[in-house]
Amino acid sequence: MNADCIFCKIISGAIPAKNIYEDADFIAFHDIKPMAKVHFLIVPKLHVATLQDCNSTHQKLLGNMLLLAPKLAADQGLKGFKTLINTGREGGQEVLHIHMHVFGSGL
Ligand code: 5GP
Ligand code: ZN
Repeated sequence: MNADCIFCKIISGAIPAKNIYEDADFIAFHDIKPMAKVHFLIVPKLHVATLQDCNSTHQKLLGNMLLLAPKLAADQGLKGFKTLINTGREGGQEVLHIHMHVFGSGL
């Protein structure tokens, strides 16, 4: 938990979001500025800023994040989808809490 992090605030419930999934390790919710007909974010509850901050201790978390994408995409009625992980300011990452975008139908 990082008090200044907007995704930590969504995870804690301090800021509302259109949640589509939650378990012990992840939350997923619709992006506030969707860039496709379906656009949601899969966010680990553990506050890690970027993919560059990950190491072998995060291997299971990263694998599970990937495996959630097809499951949640199917829940949203998608037959296929695109994924994106922006990494670091130079990589276009605005929110410094690791997350994966999932886009479907019309990116
Ligand atoms: P990034 O550029 O960090 O990969 O993407 C961050 C994404 O989070 C952006 O697509 C942005 O629209 C979304 N976002 C930022 N703040 C909020 C928020 O408060 N609620 C929701 N649902 N999405 C947000
Ligand atoms: Zn955070």
